[in-house]
Amino acid sequence: MIPHADLVLFQHNVDTFWEHTLASFRDKGGAVACETGCIHCCKVYATCSESEADLLAAFICREPEREIALTDAVDAYIAELNALRAAGAYDALPDDNARISAHFGFDIRCPFLTADDLCAAYIVRPFGCRSHWAADTPDACATATLVQKIQPTEESTDEFVDGLHEAGRADQYADYDDIGRTLSQEETVGLIADQVELALTRRLMERDDASTG
Ligand code: SF4
Repeated sequence: MIPHADLVLFQHNVDTFWEHTLASFRDKGGAVACETGCIHCCKVYATCSESEADLLAAFICREPEREIALTDAVDAYIAELNALRAAGAYDALPDDNARISAHFGFDIRCPFLTADDLCAAYIVRPFGCRSHWAADTPDACATATLVQKIQPTEESTDEFVDGLHEAGRADQYADYDDIGRTLSQEETVGLIADQVELALTRRLMERDDASTG
């Protein structure tokens, strides 16, 4: 697993990269559909790495009230998923793409979505949540089939890297491929909530052991 400090720096780098990419996209006349309160992406079959799940678990356990609320939310989400799995909802689906499409149709909200449609774990949200931007309208995102995803261009990536060198900060950054490899997709084994549940269980058990030991 990546140490939390390294992961937080990586997440900051991803955000900075995307701020640059979106600014470049807008400069060329593009319109970004994403806005606060739009939650269509937060109902997809989202995954994260073990390191990100561990950081999310640490964030959840940092405050008692948050721990109660978000642990309950993760438990409820997993129960909802397990009911779907038990009913065979995923059985006939051949691959992740099919699961993503089917899952979207189940209309299950991410357990970290608050009642007022904000992300309760925004500062530690995983890579996937930081790096998906749509150029269609929010209505298009509602169908999850018509979305024109914004991609970084070679030009915008080069501009970003050049800016880093000019600012003397190049040693803090890998290029985009290196950042991607840091959070390898091979680590990604399931839904965010599945992994966070594992990380939470481990963290709570370690805490119990420490208090009784
Ligand atoms: S972690 Fe936050 S941004 Fe990511 S899917 Fe859940 S609510 Fe949305």
